[in-house]
Amino acid sequence: MTPQQALHKYFGYTEFRHEQEAIVQQILDGGDALVLMPTGGGKSLCYQLPAVLLSGLTIVISPLIALMKDQVDALNINGIPAAYLNSTQNPNEQQQIVSRLQSGEIKLLYLAPERLFGSESRLVSFLKTLNVSLIAIDEAHCISHWGHDFRPEYLMLANFKTEFPQTPVIALTATADDLTRKDIREKLALRKPREFVSSFNRPNISYKVAPKRDAYNQLLDFLDEHKEDSGIIYCLSRQNTEDLAADLQKQGYAAKAYHAGLDNETKARNQDQFLRDEVKIMVATIAFGMGINKSNVRYVVHYDLPKNIEGYYQETGRAGRDGLPSEALLFYSGGDAFKLQRFAKVDGNEEQSRIMLKKLDDMVKYCQLQTCRRQYLMHYFNEQFPDHCGSCDVCLTEFKKVDGTVIAQKALSAVYRLNQRFGTGYVIDFLRGSRSEKIREEFKQLKTYGIGADMSKAEWQRYIGQLVIQGYLQVTDDAYPILKLTAASEPVLKGQQKVEFSISEAMELEVAENQPS
Ligand code: ADP
Ligand code: ZN
Repeated sequence: MTPQQALHKYFGYTEFRHEQEAIVQQILDGGDALVLMPTGGGKSLCYQLPAVLLSGLTIVISPLIALMKDQVDALNINGIPAAYLNSTQNPNEQQQIVSRLQSGEIKLLYLAPERLFGSESRLVSFLKTLNVSLIAIDEAHCISHWGHDFRPEYLMLANFKTEFPQTPVIALTATADDLTRKDIREKLALRKPREFVSSFNRPNISYKVAPKRDAYNQLLDFLDEHKEDSGIIYCLSRQNTEDLAADLQKQGYAAKAYHAGLDNETKARNQDQFLRDEVKIMVATIAFGMGINKSNVRYVVHYDLPKNIEGYYQETGRAGRDGLPSEALLFYSGGDAFKLQRFAKVDGNEEQSRIMLKKLDDMVKYCQLQTCRRQYLMHYFNEQFPDHCGSCDVCLTEFKKVDGTVIAQKALSAVYRLNQRFGTGYVIDFLRGSRSEKIREEFKQLKTYGIGADMSKAEWQRYIGQLVIQGYLQVTDDAYPILKLTAASEPVLKGQQKVEFSISEAMELEVAENQPS
């Protein structure tokens, strides 16, 4: 059977989505793969389809015991023999599955990571007696400290490559920036993995950030326009989810709370009611949502500032899985940013704090953007995107294009003259001719020194930000991020390439107010 035939026969689909076909082929060729696909993109098929075609067993590692049953049931309904082993089963049930595994009848076995390599676990020795064709690791970002959902038990999955050196491994996630990807490749010891990155753009979601002033009333205004809709409201603290849900109930909304501190029964009930549309609004901490497959979520509100873009993007991605227009609204306040900064500092070791602070900083930058939010998000995930999505709040404010070639040339030559060894703040001080002692005397002799004195710090920050987003400059990943030129810089410096900036009315006003007198 070809992959195409299996797609039709077992899954009832006529076409592969995103890069599914190439991913399936990579696995069938015996190679490792790292798959990044947005939530709802169709990751499961990337290992389920090879599982059907391969001769032996596919082991699927998934962190969510609660979802295993659903997935296994769905496979069995499609005529694919699948099973799971987890702590909810009694020894008898487990024994039955063991026998079915031994007879080679089962194609997919779902396991939670903690079962595998514990000191007591005899599971691995048993699995080694079977013909294992493929190992699939779902939610692979859980292996990374830097991700937003680190699970220590994932670290043990490194043992797969030692225990099953010949078996291909496919790691899948909906959220992984560069650092997390690197972590996944290294920690799982993937061998020459091919990376498959699907577009993360979710065109039907529109992004909006509102200054958080009187969040509760702002929220009520928003909900007023979404009376019939189903949505998720994320809060930072457990207590807040309960308080807010109670307040919304008083306003007549069918709202429930969800957080990790609730007992399992309440969690399951609330989630169930939400899935069945009896509850319209889920007020939740980020504990809610992973693996939840509800297609008609019309909006996701972040009542508090998320800790990083990865988490934010994954959470907003729970809206609009049905492809219909949906909204992502975030309430931003500097106070929230400050609070999270303090958390980030106490949390963990120095390097970890540094990375968390950097990620938080990227989140704050997103909130303060005056350029397309979608472009920023795509850029964050290493995707190119034209500068205007036309559907985020920034794009919906009126923009005009201005020629920024001269400004760009000034900025790029400053970076060049400073030998590409300084950060944004230093470059701006240099451009503006700051008398600060921080600026070395030798630099003060350069012609470029002070050529940008006609613009405020804020303007320079914005323009340099735009230059980075447009790829004419790059920022290094160091503890003290440094501005560097890119391949695109030279044509600008030589006057062969024009640069455009997007300016909104609000920005012009601000600039006017900031003009040095
Ligand atoms: P993910 O794990 O990436 O969030 P899923 O694997 O749950 O996504 O797939 C999301 C939805 O897309 C599911 O309903 C799935 O059946 C469907 N799907 C996956 N691949 C295809 C395809 N090639 N054609 C049509 N629908 C698909
Ligand atoms: Zn936009």
